[in-house]
Amino acid sequence: MSQFSLALSEDQEQLKDWVHQFAKDVVRPVAEEWDEREEFPWPVVQEAAKIGLYGFDFMAQAMLGDETGLTMPIAIEELFWGDAGIGLSIMGSGLAAAGIAGNGTPEQLGEWVPQCYGTADDVKLGAFCVSEPDAGSDVSSLRTRAVYDEAKDEWVLNGTKAWITNGGIANVHVVVAAVEPDLKGRGQASFIVPPNTPGLSMGQKYKKHGIKASHTSEVVLEDVRVPGSCLLGGKEKLDEKLARAREALNKPKTTGTSGKQPAMATFEATRPAVGAQAIGVARAAYEYSLQYAQEREAFGKPIIKNQSIAFMLADMCTEIDAARLLVHRAAWLSRNGQYVNAEGSQSKLKAGRVAVWVTERAIQILGGYGYTREYPVERWHRDAKIFDIFEGTEQIQQLVIARAISGLRIE
Ligand SMILES: Cc1cc2nc3c(=O)[nH]c(=O)nc-3n(C[C@H](O)[C@H](O)[C@H](O)COP(=O)(O)OP(=O)(O)OC[C@H]3O[C@@H](n4cnc5c(N)ncnc54)[C@H](O)[C@@H]3O)c2cc1C
Repeated sequence: MSQFSLALSEDQEQLKDWVHQFAKDVVRPVAEEWDEREEFPWPVVQEAAKIGLYGFDFMAQAMLGDETGLTMPIAIEELFWGDAGIGLSIMGSGLAAAGIAGNGTPEQLGEWVPQCYGTADDVKLGAFCVSEPDAGSDVSSLRTRAVYDEAKDEWVLNGTKAWITNGGIANVHVVVAAVEPDLKGRGQASFIVPPNTPGLSMGQKYKKHGIKASHTSEVVLEDVRVPGSCLLGGKEKLDEKLARAREALNKPKTTGTSGKQPAMATFEATRPAVGAQAIGVARAAYEYSLQYAQEREAFGKPIIKNQSIAFMLADMCTEIDAARLLVHRAAWLSRNGQYVNAEGSQSKLKAGRVAVWVTERAIQILGGYGYTREYPVERWHRDAKIFDIFEGTEQIQQLVIARAISGLRIE
């Protein structure tokens, strides 16, 4: 009966060490520089591609070749321990890949996911474009329209996407758009915009509080024409979905969520991975402040000898472990199709909060030094805040969890 085990397999331990080494030797030493430059760290992503950490093969192996679902969170935690902005530059294409995998056919997956990565000699990126200036949390209100031109078997996309990771610099953009806006989320579909498609351009590039190495910008779509084959899942499936949604529209609202939306399906699957990102940052700050507290002396003794500091570190360690357990549980449940409530959201909610709290406490432990750019903890604190915001804010995770546990349409 002793089936419960938290032990990592030999392969997982090796993977952890391999990614940690890369994070320590390649990512950490340049983290401050790329944060200051606020530019996409192409050379580091190219290094990751050379060792096989960035690429289609790694993603396929990590996502499909692992029954436990833990490969991704383990790798991500180590990478983000190195740096979150660079980590997201390496992992950002994964969101586009997940968007394709979640909604596309096996043929579409085979054609487009590799193009989100390119090759080790010619690195490419993918971008997942959902959010808009007036539709972030409320993904059911997208204004970007997709209109079918039957004569040419083409879709025409128009709209503006906001805060898109890798937006405008990606090779492949996965765009979620409204086909029938009246049907809200259930009237939406996902489209591939292939490389160099006329009409797609980069809007403003955002200047950010943290994860500054990661590229975030608007994506403007002006009469972007894509072939019918770029509709993820295919026309037949979309028509069936729209017919079902129209039927449901005429029925009274019941309990539960508002049905499967393309963007939500992707986010559900990727939330434990975002939780793992947050834990990587939290752990970096915890380890750094633990060492600092042992070395820094005040009143003639190391500051860790004060209970107030030691207990803070004890709580930081405990919170990180608790968050990691939730992330690993969610990753395992997700991989095995066993989500019961909203375990993915629970893991992301907890890990995001822990990252913000732990990094803030780390600044406290370093005192004045912690508040300066000479030490990395202020950067980690700036970076950590994103985990309360993207891929569903703190409040949206609470909403998803509340709906799941109550079975009610909590607003
Ligand atoms: C660095 C960065 C990278 C990003 N990358 C991507 C990307 O690659 N692709 C993509 O599509 N998007 C991306 N986003 C967008 C991100 O997912 C949204 O910013 C996020 O979903 C929040 O949307 P919003 O900013 O419009 O906030 P709003 O939805 O306007 O929310 C504002 C506040 O109101 C709260 N709120 C909203 N609705 C409710 C409610 N029903 N109940 C309680 N509180 C509520 C929110 O929690 C928040 O506190 C990125 C954002 C950032 C900052």
